[in-house]
Amino acid sequence: MNNNEITFKDEYGNLVVIMTDVVQLFKKYQQLLPTTPESAGVLIGERRGRHIVITDISIPGKGDSCSRYQVDRKGEHHQKKVDEAFIKSNKTKHYLGEWHTHPEKYPIPSSLDYNSWSKIDASNGNIVFIIVGQENMWLSTKTKSSFNLFNEVTLE
Ligand SMILES: [Zn+2]
Repeated sequence: MNNNEITFKDEYGNLVVIMTDVVQLFKKYQQLLPTTPESAGVLIGERRGRHIVITDISIPGKGDSCSRYQVDRKGEHHQKKVDEAFIKSNKTKHYLGEWHTHPEKYPIPSSLDYNSWSKIDASNGNIVFIIVGQENMWLSTKTKSSFNLFNEVTLE
């Protein structure tokens, strides 16, 4: 993972852009040490036509329980962060999805991940799921009917 904004693309040309500030935060929570717990939060940003820009995230905090292999996102500060971003941005920034970390180089969703994601409603627009690994990020959107895998775009 580099330090600048990262762009992901699916097979239809839909883009998800992760802004620099968010990339920096993800790097801070990468599970690089054996003792680093799993972290999680929500993704916040803008839908621009069929593309998505992630500008903010919520981070682990009070009320969350984190261990190395699982995370239970209970803290009220996650919703608060979404509400604040919505107001501050003049209603352009919304909840876009969920992120969490895995202690693997190239992260792959667990059956537990798919299970919890299946409960998230995507009828009002695609939802983004990100897993932050030790080397790479895994990114998918969920549409009304299916999951849609994205790949990182390499810029020359
Ligand atoms: Zn997971």
